[in-house]
Amino acid sequence: MKTEVLIIGGGVAGLSLALTLARQRIPVVVVEREEGAGHLYKGELLQPKTLQIFKRLGMLERVKAEMYPLEAIHTREVGRGREELLHVLMDYSVLPEHAMAAMIPHDRLRELLLKEALTYETVQIVRPAVFLNLQTSYTARIKYQNEIHSITANMIVGAEGRGSKIRKIAGLTFKRQSYNHDFLTFSFACPPELTEGEMIADEQRFLGLFPLPDKRVRSVLQIRPGEYKQLKQAGPQAVHEHYARLEPRLDGYVQTVTDWKEIQLMFPVRQTVSRYYRSNLIVIGDAAHSVHPMAGEGMNLAIQDADILGELIGWMYQTGKSTDYALFHWFEDVRKRRVEYVSWLSHLFARMYSPTGRAWQRLRLSAIRALVQNERLHDQQMMNISGLGLIPFQVKDGLHLFFRGKRTILQQHVFTKKDDYPWLATGGVNNDDN
Ligand SMILES: Cc1cc2nc3c(=O)[nH]c(=O)nc-3n(C[C@H](O)[C@H](O)[C@H](O)COP(=O)(O)OP(=O)(O)OC[C@H]3O[C@@H](n4cnc5c(N)ncnc54)[C@H](O)[C@@H]3O)c2cc1C
Repeated sequence: MKTEVLIIGGGVAGLSLALTLARQRIPVVVVEREEGAGHLYKGELLQPKTLQIFKRLGMLERVKAEMYPLEAIHTREVGRGREELLHVLMDYSVLPEHAMAAMIPHDRLRELLLKEALTYETVQIVRPAVFLNLQTSYTARIKYQNEIHSITANMIVGAEGRGSKIRKIAGLTFKRQSYNHDFLTFSFACPPELTEGEMIADEQRFLGLFPLPDKRVRSVLQIRPGEYKQLKQAGPQAVHEHYARLEPRLDGYVQTVTDWKEIQLMFPVRQTVSRYYRSNLIVIGDAAHSVHPMAGEGMNLAIQDADILGELIGWMYQTGKSTDYALFHWFEDVRKRRVEYVSWLSHLFARMYSPTGRAWQRLRLSAIRALVQNERLHDQQMMNISGLGLIPFQVKDGLHLFFRGKRTILQQHVFTKKDDYPWLATGGVNNDDN
Protein backbone atom coordinates (compact mmCIF):
# COMPACT_ATOMS: atom_id res chain seq x y z
CA MET A 1 0.00 0.00 0.00
CA LYS A 2 1.20 3.54 -0.79
CA THR A 3 0.08 6.89 0.52
CA GLU A 4 1.41 10.42 1.03
CA VAL A 5 1.05 10.67 4.82
CA LEU A 6 0.96 7.68 7.13
CA ILE A 7 -0.35 8.37 10.63
CA ILE A 8 0.33 5.82 13.34
CA GLY A 9 -2.44 6.08 15.95
CA GLY A 10 -6.08 7.02 15.51
CA GLY A 11 -6.56 8.96 18.75
CA VAL A 12 -7.74 12.57 18.75
CA ALA A 13 -4.37 13.77 17.40
CA GLY A 14 -4.17 11.26 14.53
CA LEU A 15 -7.81 11.66 13.50
CA SER A 16 -7.73 15.48 13.64
CA LEU A 17 -4.63 15.46 11.46
CA ALA A 18 -6.23 13.00 9.01
CA LEU A 19 -9.26 15.28 8.74
CA THR A 20 -7.17 18.43 8.23
CA LEU A 21 -5.19 16.70 5.46
CA ALA A 22 -8.32 15.22 3.90
CA ARG A 23 -9.83 18.68 3.54
CA GLN A 24 -6.75 19.55 1.47
CA ARG A 25 -7.13 16.35 -0.60
CA ILE A 26 -3.85 14.84 0.60
CA PRO A 27 -3.99 11.01 0.65
CA VAL A 28 -3.60 9.71 4.19
CA VAL A 29 -3.66 6.32 5.92
CA VAL A 30 -4.30 5.99 9.66
CA VAL A 31 -3.20 2.79 11.40
CA GLU A 32 -5.05 2.22 14.68
CA ARG A 33 -4.53 -0.64 17.12
CA GLU A 34 -8.01 -0.65 18.63
CA GLU A 35 -11.15 -1.85 16.93
CA GLY A 36 -13.48 0.87 18.29
CA ALA A 37 -13.20 4.27 19.94
CA GLY A 38 -12.58 2.72 23.38
CA HIS A 39 -14.38 3.52 26.61
CA LEU A 40 -11.50 4.50 28.83
CA TYR A 41 -11.64 7.98 30.28
CA LYS A 42 -9.04 9.99 28.41
CA GLY A 43 -9.80 13.64 28.78
CA GLU A 44 -13.07 15.36 28.02
CA LEU A 45 -12.51 19.08 28.52
CA LEU A 46 -12.36 21.09 25.29
CA GLN A 47 -10.67 24.47 25.61
CA PRO A 48 -11.81 27.48 23.49
CA LYS A 49 -8.98 27.19 20.93
CA THR A 50 -9.96 23.59 20.23
CA LEU A 51 -13.55 24.64 19.61
CA GLN A 52 -12.24 27.30 17.24
CA ILE A 53 -10.34 24.57 15.34
CA PHE A 54 -13.51 22.48 15.06
CA LYS A 55 -15.17 25.53 13.51
CA ARG A 56 -12.36 25.71 10.93
CA LEU A 57 -12.81 21.99 10.27
CA GLY A 58 -16.52 22.56 9.65
CA MET A 59 -17.63 20.29 12.49
CA LEU A 60 -18.42 22.71 15.33
CA GLU A 61 -22.18 22.22 15.05
CA ARG A 62 -21.81 18.43 15.31
CA VAL A 63 -19.52 18.80 18.33
CA LYS A 64 -21.95 21.31 19.89
CA ALA A 65 -24.78 18.80 19.61
CA GLU A 66 -22.80 16.37 21.78
CA MET A 67 -21.09 18.67 24.26
CA TYR A 68 -21.89 20.37 27.56
CA PRO A 69 -20.83 24.06 27.48
CA LEU A 70 -18.81 25.28 30.46
CA GLU A 71 -18.62 29.01 31.08
CA ALA A 72 -16.84 28.89 34.40
CA ILE A 73 -14.99 26.67 36.82
CA HIS A 74 -15.54 27.26 40.52
CA THR A 75 -12.47 26.81 42.69
CA ARG A 76 -13.24 26.11 46.33
CA GLU A 77 -11.31 25.29 49.47
CA VAL A 78 -12.98 23.76 52.51
CA GLY A 79 -11.71 23.62 56.07
CA ARG A 80 -11.70 20.89 58.72
CA GLY A 81 -15.22 21.70 59.87
CA ARG A 82 -16.43 21.65 56.23
CA GLU A 83 -16.65 25.46 56.25
CA GLU A 84 -15.92 27.19 52.96
CA LEU A 85 -12.55 28.98 53.13
CA LEU A 86 -12.45 30.19 49.56
CA HIS A 87 -14.76 30.32 46.56
CA VAL A 88 -13.47 31.96 43.37
CA LEU A 89 -14.41 31.68 39.74
CA MET A 90 -12.27 30.93 36.70
CA ASP A 91 -14.44 32.67 34.19
CA TYR A 92 -14.18 31.88 30.47
CA SER A 93 -16.57 34.71 29.59
CA VAL A 94 -13.74 37.29 29.96
CA LEU A 95 -12.17 35.84 26.81
CA PRO A 96 -12.72 37.42 23.40
CA GLU A 97 -15.48 36.27 21.05
CA HIS A 98 -17.72 34.76 23.74
CA ALA A 99 -15.26 31.91 24.18
CA MET A 100 -16.22 28.99 26.35
CA ALA A 101 -14.98 25.54 27.22
CA ALA A 102 -17.02 22.34 26.93
CA MET A 103 -17.18 18.75 28.07
CA ILE A 104 -17.58 15.88 25.65
CA PRO A 105 -17.06 12.14 26.23
CA HIS A 106 -13.69 11.21 24.70
CA ASP A 107 -15.03 8.23 22.77
CA ARG A 108 -17.82 10.36 21.26
CA LEU A 109 -15.32 12.94 20.06
CA ARG A 110 -13.18 10.24 18.47
CA GLU A 111 -16.24 8.81 16.75
CA LEU A 112 -17.20 12.24 15.41
CA LEU A 113 -13.69 12.86 14.07
CA LEU A 114 -13.54 9.42 12.52
CA LYS A 115 -16.94 9.77 10.87
CA GLU A 116 -16.00 13.17 9.50
CA ALA A 117 -12.60 11.98 8.20
CA LEU A 118 -14.18 8.98 6.45
CA THR A 119 -16.42 11.26 4.38
CA TYR A 120 -13.27 11.98 2.31
CA GLU A 121 -12.15 9.38 -0.21
CA THR A 122 -8.51 10.26 0.38
CA VAL A 123 -8.61 8.89 3.95
CA GLN A 124 -8.15 5.22 4.81
CA ILE A 125 -8.33 3.83 8.32
CA VAL A 126 -6.65 0.47 8.85
CA ARG A 127 -7.80 -1.10 12.13
CA PRO A 128 -7.35 -3.02 14.26
CA ALA A 129 -3.77 -2.95 13.04
CA VAL A 130 -0.54 -2.59 14.97
CA PHE A 131 2.45 -0.64 13.78
CA LEU A 132 5.52 -2.84 14.33
CA ASN A 133 8.54 -0.97 12.99
CA LEU A 134 10.03 0.77 9.96
CA GLN A 135 11.75 -1.10 7.11
CA THR A 136 13.11 2.17 5.78
CA SER A 137 12.19 5.66 6.90
CA TYR A 138 9.47 5.60 4.20
CA THR A 139 8.07 2.10 4.75
CA ALA A 140 6.23 0.91 7.84
CA ARG A 141 5.51 -2.68 8.76
CA ILE A 142 2.13 -3.26 10.31
CA LYS A 143 0.27 -6.33 11.53
CA TYR A 144 -3.25 -6.46 10.17
CA GLN A 145 -5.55 -9.48 10.13
CA ASN A 146 -2.71 -11.73 11.29
CA GLU A 147 -0.47 -10.78 8.39
CA ILE A 148 2.44 -8.40 8.06
CA HIS A 149 1.86 -5.58 5.53
CA SER A 150 4.04 -2.75 4.30
CA ILE A 151 2.82 0.82 3.87
CA THR A 152 5.03 3.29 2.03
CA ALA A 153 4.57 7.03 2.57
CA ASN A 154 6.32 10.31 2.00
CA MET A 155 5.85 11.35 5.66
CA ILE A 156 5.22 9.24 8.73
CA VAL A 157 3.55 10.80 11.75
CA GLY A 158 3.77 9.25 15.22
CA ALA A 159 0.43 9.94 16.93
CA GLU A 160 0.44 6.77 19.03
CA GLY A 161 0.36 8.38 22.45
CA ARG A 162 2.78 8.33 25.36
CA GLY A 163 4.63 5.14 24.36
CA SER A 164 5.33 6.27 20.76
CA LYS A 165 7.53 3.91 18.71
CA ILE A 166 8.05 6.50 15.99
CA ARG A 167 9.53 8.84 18.60
CA LYS A 168 11.94 6.09 19.62
CA ILE A 169 12.86 5.12 16.04
CA ALA A 170 13.47 8.76 15.16
CA GLY A 171 15.74 9.00 18.21
CA LEU A 172 13.78 11.92 19.67
CA THR A 173 14.80 12.13 23.29
CA PHE A 174 12.38 13.20 26.00
CA LYS A 175 12.27 14.12 29.67
CA ARG A 176 9.83 12.32 31.93
CA GLN A 177 8.49 13.38 35.28
CA SER A 178 6.15 11.46 37.56
CA TYR A 179 4.16 12.71 40.55
CA ASN A 180 3.59 11.70 44.16
CA HIS A 181 -0.15 11.24 43.69
CA ASP A 182 -2.58 9.30 41.52
CA PHE A 183 -6.19 9.92 40.55
CA LEU A 184 -9.41 7.96 40.60
CA THR A 185 -11.91 8.89 37.96
CA PHE A 186 -15.47 7.86 37.18
CA SER A 187 -18.74 9.43 36.13
CA PHE A 188 -22.18 9.22 37.71
CA ALA A 189 -25.61 10.94 37.63
CA CYS A 190 -25.13 14.69 38.06
CA PRO A 191 -27.01 16.50 40.85
CA PRO A 192 -29.20 19.09 39.03
CA GLU A 193 -27.71 22.03 40.95
CA LEU A 194 -24.21 21.25 39.66
CA THR A 195 -24.19 23.16 36.39
CA GLU A 196 -20.60 24.39 36.09
CA GLY A 197 -17.13 22.95 36.66
CA GLU A 198 -16.03 22.64 40.29
CA MET A 199 -12.59 22.11 41.79
CA ILE A 200 -12.85 21.46 45.51
CA ALA A 201 -9.93 20.86 47.85
CA ASP A 202 -9.40 20.38 51.54
CA GLU A 203 -6.10 19.91 53.30
CA GLN A 204 -5.90 16.25 52.27
CA ARG A 205 -7.24 15.89 48.76
CA PHE A 206 -8.66 17.42 45.60
CA LEU A 207 -11.90 16.64 43.78
CA GLY A 208 -12.73 17.84 40.26
CA LEU A 209 -16.35 17.75 39.01
CA PHE A 210 -17.27 18.50 35.41
CA PRO A 211 -20.83 18.06 34.06
CA LEU A 212 -21.17 15.92 30.95
CA PRO A 213 -23.87 16.26 28.28
CA ASP A 214 -25.77 13.11 29.28
CA LYS A 215 -26.80 14.44 32.74
CA ARG A 216 -23.74 12.78 34.23
CA VAL A 217 -20.75 14.32 35.90
CA ARG A 218 -17.10 13.39 35.42
CA SER A 219 -15.23 13.23 38.70
CA VAL A 220 -11.51 13.09 39.42
CA LEU A 221 -10.29 12.41 42.97
CA GLN A 222 -6.65 12.85 43.94
CA ILE A 223 -5.28 10.02 46.08
CA ARG A 224 -1.90 9.19 47.60
CA PRO A 225 0.23 6.51 45.95
CA GLY A 226 -0.64 3.13 47.45
CA GLU A 227 -4.02 4.42 48.64
CA TYR A 228 -5.77 2.72 45.72
CA LYS A 229 -5.06 -0.68 47.23
CA GLN A 230 -6.43 0.40 50.62
CA LEU A 231 -9.54 1.91 49.05
CA LYS A 232 -10.15 -1.22 46.99
CA GLN A 233 -9.95 -3.35 50.10
CA ALA A 234 -12.34 -1.02 51.93
CA GLY A 235 -14.83 -1.05 49.01
CA PRO A 236 -16.43 1.72 46.91
CA GLN A 237 -18.18 3.14 50.00
CA ALA A 238 -14.78 4.43 51.19
CA VAL A 239 -14.56 6.44 47.95
CA HIS A 240 -18.17 7.64 48.35
CA GLU A 241 -17.33 8.99 51.80
CA HIS A 242 -14.48 11.12 50.44
CA TYR A 243 -16.80 12.51 47.77
CA ALA A 244 -19.71 13.27 50.08
CA ARG A 245 -17.37 14.90 52.61
CA LEU A 246 -15.80 17.19 50.02
CA GLU A 247 -19.12 17.98 48.32
CA PRO A 248 -22.26 17.08 50.31
CA ARG A 249 -24.43 17.70 47.22
CA LEU A 250 -23.04 14.44 45.81
CA ASP A 251 -24.56 12.40 48.60
CA GLY A 252 -27.12 10.02 47.09
CA TYR A 253 -25.57 10.35 43.62
CA VAL A 254 -22.02 9.06 43.99
CA GLN A 255 -23.33 5.93 45.74
CA THR A 256 -24.81 4.72 42.42
CA VAL A 257 -21.27 3.64 41.51
CA THR A 258 -20.95 0.29 43.22
CA ASP A 259 -18.53 -1.64 41.01
CA TRP A 260 -14.76 -1.06 40.93
CA LYS A 261 -14.89 -1.76 37.19
CA GLU A 262 -16.47 1.69 36.80
CA ILE A 263 -13.62 3.36 38.66
CA GLN A 264 -10.45 4.04 36.69
CA LEU A 265 -7.03 4.63 38.23
CA MET A 266 -4.79 7.11 36.45
CA PHE A 267 -1.13 7.94 36.94
CA PRO A 268 -0.16 11.46 35.94
CA VAL A 269 3.03 11.78 33.92
CA ARG A 270 4.72 14.73 32.27
CA GLN A 271 6.81 14.04 29.17
CA THR A 272 8.41 16.51 26.79
CA VAL A 273 10.43 15.75 23.67
CA SER A 274 13.45 17.87 22.87
CA ARG A 275 12.75 17.78 19.10
CA TYR A 276 9.49 17.07 17.27
CA TYR A 277 10.88 15.62 14.03
CA ARG A 278 13.77 13.96 12.29
CA SER A 279 13.81 13.82 8.49
CA ASN A 280 10.33 12.65 7.36
CA LEU A 281 9.34 11.32 10.82
CA ILE A 282 7.38 13.65 13.08
CA VAL A 283 5.48 13.27 16.34
CA ILE A 284 2.31 14.98 17.61
CA GLY A 285 -0.02 14.80 20.62
CA ASP A 286 0.96 12.63 23.57
CA ALA A 287 3.71 11.07 21.46
CA ALA A 288 5.46 14.45 21.67
CA HIS A 289 4.30 15.68 25.06
CA SER A 290 2.02 14.45 27.75
CA VAL A 291 0.99 16.87 30.44
CA HIS A 292 -0.34 16.51 33.97
CA PRO A 293 -4.16 16.22 33.64
CA MET A 294 -4.86 18.89 36.30
CA ALA A 295 -5.45 21.70 33.82
CA GLY A 296 -7.36 19.52 31.30
CA GLU A 297 -5.01 20.31 28.43
CA GLY A 298 -3.63 17.05 26.92
CA MET A 299 -6.42 16.42 24.42
CA ASN A 300 -6.40 20.10 23.45
CA LEU A 301 -2.68 20.22 22.82
CA ALA A 302 -3.02 17.11 20.65
CA ILE A 303 -5.76 18.66 18.48
CA GLN A 304 -3.93 21.99 18.30
CA ASP A 305 -0.77 20.15 17.12
CA ALA A 306 -2.81 18.45 14.40
CA ASP A 307 -4.19 21.78 13.20
CA ILE A 308 -0.77 23.40 12.85
CA LEU A 309 0.95 20.35 11.32
CA GLY A 310 -1.97 19.66 8.96
CA GLU A 311 -1.91 23.20 7.62
CA LEU A 312 1.89 23.11 7.24
CA ILE A 313 1.84 19.81 5.34
CA GLY A 314 -0.95 21.15 3.13
CA TRP A 315 1.16 24.18 2.29
CA MET A 316 4.24 22.00 1.60
CA TYR A 317 2.20 20.05 -0.98
CA GLN A 318 0.62 23.15 -2.50
CA THR A 319 4.00 24.78 -3.00
CA GLY A 320 5.78 21.68 -4.35
CA LYS A 321 7.93 21.31 -1.23
CA SER A 322 6.49 18.04 0.05
CA THR A 323 9.89 16.42 0.48
CA ASP A 324 11.59 19.42 2.04
CA TYR A 325 11.30 17.95 5.53
CA ALA A 326 13.44 20.69 7.05
CA LEU A 327 10.27 22.81 6.77
CA PHE A 328 8.86 20.86 9.72
CA HIS A 329 10.83 23.34 11.80
CA TRP A 330 7.79 25.64 11.43
CA PHE A 331 5.69 23.14 13.33
CA GLU A 332 8.25 22.94 16.09
CA ASP A 333 8.67 26.74 16.15
CA VAL A 334 4.93 27.31 16.63
CA ARG A 335 4.09 24.46 18.96
CA LYS A 336 7.07 23.86 21.25
CA ARG A 337 6.91 27.17 23.13
CA ARG A 338 3.13 27.05 23.55
CA VAL A 339 3.08 23.40 24.64
CA GLU A 340 5.93 23.82 27.09
CA TYR A 341 4.24 26.80 28.70
CA VAL A 342 0.90 25.01 29.12
CA SER A 343 2.69 21.90 30.36
CA TRP A 344 4.47 24.03 32.96
CA LEU A 345 1.15 25.58 34.03
CA SER A 346 -0.43 22.14 34.46
CA HIS A 347 2.64 21.06 36.41
CA LEU A 348 2.35 24.12 38.65
CA PHE A 349 -1.32 23.34 39.36
CA ALA A 350 -0.34 19.76 40.19
CA ARG A 351 2.37 20.95 42.57
CA MET A 352 -0.07 23.33 44.27
CA TYR A 353 -2.44 20.49 45.06
CA SER A 354 0.15 17.77 45.87
CA PRO A 355 1.29 18.47 49.43
CA THR A 356 -1.18 17.84 52.26
CA GLY A 357 -1.70 19.55 55.63
CA ARG A 358 -3.30 22.70 56.95
CA ALA A 359 -0.26 24.99 56.51
CA TRP A 360 0.09 24.08 52.86
CA GLN A 361 -3.63 24.54 52.25
CA ARG A 362 -3.45 28.08 53.69
CA LEU A 363 -0.51 28.85 51.41
CA ARG A 364 -2.36 27.50 48.36
CA LEU A 365 -5.44 29.45 49.36
CA SER A 366 -3.49 32.71 49.42
CA ALA A 367 -1.92 31.94 46.05
CA ILE A 368 -5.27 31.16 44.42
CA ARG A 369 -6.92 34.16 45.99
CA ALA A 370 -4.15 36.44 44.74
CA LEU A 371 -4.25 34.97 41.26
CA VAL A 372 -7.94 34.64 40.62
CA GLN A 373 -9.27 37.63 42.55
CA ASN A 374 -6.92 39.95 40.70
CA GLU A 375 -8.75 40.64 37.43
CA ARG A 376 -5.57 41.18 35.44
CA LEU A 377 -3.93 37.93 36.55
CA HIS A 378 -7.20 36.03 36.28
CA ASP A 379 -7.66 37.16 32.66
CA GLN A 380 -4.06 36.28 31.87
CA GLN A 381 -4.54 32.81 33.32
CA MET A 382 -7.77 32.24 31.36
CA MET A 383 -6.05 33.30 28.14
CA ASN A 384 -3.18 30.90 28.74
CA ILE A 385 -5.33 27.87 29.48
CA SER A 386 -7.76 28.66 26.65
CA GLY A 387 -5.09 28.17 23.96
CA LEU A 388 -6.38 31.29 22.19
CA GLY A 389 -3.24 33.24 22.99
CA LEU A 390 -0.30 33.30 25.33
CA ILE A 391 0.60 35.94 27.93
CA PRO A 392 3.41 34.35 29.93
CA PHE A 393 3.55 35.40 33.57
CA GLN A 394 6.59 37.56 34.25
CA VAL A 395 8.33 38.60 37.42
CA LYS A 396 6.78 42.06 37.15
CA ASP A 397 3.33 40.44 37.24
CA GLY A 398 4.10 39.73 40.89
CA LEU A 399 3.49 43.44 41.51
CA HIS A 400 -0.12 42.98 40.46
CA LEU A 401 -0.57 40.72 43.46
CA PHE A 402 -0.31 43.87 45.55
CA PHE A 403 -1.51 46.61 43.20
CA ARG A 404 -4.58 46.38 41.04
CA GLY A 405 -3.11 46.73 37.54
CA LYS A 406 -5.10 47.76 34.48
CA ARG A 407 -6.99 44.89 32.88
CA THR A 408 -5.19 43.45 29.87
CA ILE A 409 -6.96 43.86 26.53
CA LEU A 410 -7.04 40.17 25.71
CA GLN A 411 -8.02 40.64 22.07
CA GLN A 412 -4.54 42.05 21.45
CA HIS A 413 -3.00 38.76 22.56
CA VAL A 414 -5.14 36.35 20.51
CA PHE A 415 -2.96 34.34 18.13
CA THR A 416 -3.23 35.74 14.63
CA LYS A 417 -3.08 33.73 11.45
CA LYS A 418 0.53 34.83 11.17
CA ASP A 419 1.26 33.45 14.66
CA ASP A 420 -0.43 30.12 13.90
CA TYR A 421 0.76 29.63 10.31
CA PRO A 422 3.90 31.80 9.96
CA TRP A 423 5.15 29.98 6.84
CA LEU A 424 2.33 31.57 4.84
CA ALA A 425 4.08 34.92 5.18
CA THR A 426 7.04 33.46 3.28
CA GLY A 427 4.89 33.17 0.15
CA GLY A 428 2.95 30.36 -1.47
CA VAL A 429 -0.65 29.37 -1.67
CA ASN A 430 -3.30 29.77 0.98
CA ASN A 431 -6.87 28.95 0.15
CA ASP A 432 -8.27 29.16 3.67
CA ASP A 433 -9.95 32.36 4.66
CA ASN A 434 -11.33 31.27 8.00
C1 LIG B 1 -6.72 8.92 32.37
C2 LIG B 1 -6.44 10.11 31.53
C3 LIG B 1 -7.13 11.31 31.80
C4 LIG B 1 -6.90 12.43 31.01
N1 LIG B 1 -7.57 13.60 31.26
C5 LIG B 1 -7.48 14.63 30.41
C6 LIG B 1 -8.30 15.82 30.51
O1 LIG B 1 -9.08 15.97 31.43
N2 LIG B 1 -8.20 16.76 29.56
C7 LIG B 1 -7.37 16.63 28.49
O2 LIG B 1 -7.32 17.52 27.61
N3 LIG B 1 -6.56 15.56 28.38
C8 LIG B 1 -6.62 14.55 29.29
N4 LIG B 1 -5.86 13.44 29.15
C9 LIG B 1 -4.90 13.41 28.10
C10 LIG B 1 -5.53 13.10 26.77
O3 LIG B 1 -6.34 11.97 26.84
C11 LIG B 1 -4.41 12.88 25.80
O4 LIG B 1 -3.54 13.98 25.86
C12 LIG B 1 -4.95 12.73 24.40
O5 LIG B 1 -5.80 11.60 24.33
C13 LIG B 1 -3.78 12.59 23.46
O6 LIG B 1 -4.26 12.21 22.22
P1 LIG B 1 -3.33 11.39 21.25
O7 LIG B 1 -4.17 11.15 20.06
O8 LIG B 1 -2.03 12.09 21.13
O9 LIG B 1 -2.99 10.03 22.01
P2 LIG B 1 -3.95 8.86 22.44
O10 LIG B 1 -5.29 9.34 22.83
O11 LIG B 1 -3.17 8.06 23.44
O12 LIG B 1 -4.13 8.01 21.10
C14 LIG B 1 -3.10 7.20 20.60
C15 LIG B 1 -3.71 6.13 19.72
O13 LIG B 1 -2.67 5.36 19.13
C16 LIG B 1 -3.00 4.00 19.17
N5 LIG B 1 -1.73 3.23 19.14
C17 LIG B 1 -0.77 3.19 20.09
N6 LIG B 1 0.24 2.39 19.69
C18 LIG B 1 -0.10 1.93 18.46
C19 LIG B 1 0.56 1.07 17.53
N7 LIG B 1 1.76 0.53 17.78
N8 LIG B 1 -0.06 0.78 16.38
C20 LIG B 1 -1.28 1.35 16.09
N9 LIG B 1 -1.93 2.17 16.92
C21 LIG B 1 -1.35 2.46 18.10
C22 LIG B 1 -3.78 3.84 20.46
O14 LIG B 1 -4.62 2.71 20.40
C23 LIG B 1 -4.55 5.14 20.53
O15 LIG B 1 -5.81 5.04 19.92
C24 LIG B 1 -6.01 12.33 29.94
C25 LIG B 1 -5.33 11.14 29.68
C26 LIG B 1 -5.54 10.04 30.46
C27 LIG B 1 -4.80 8.75 30.16
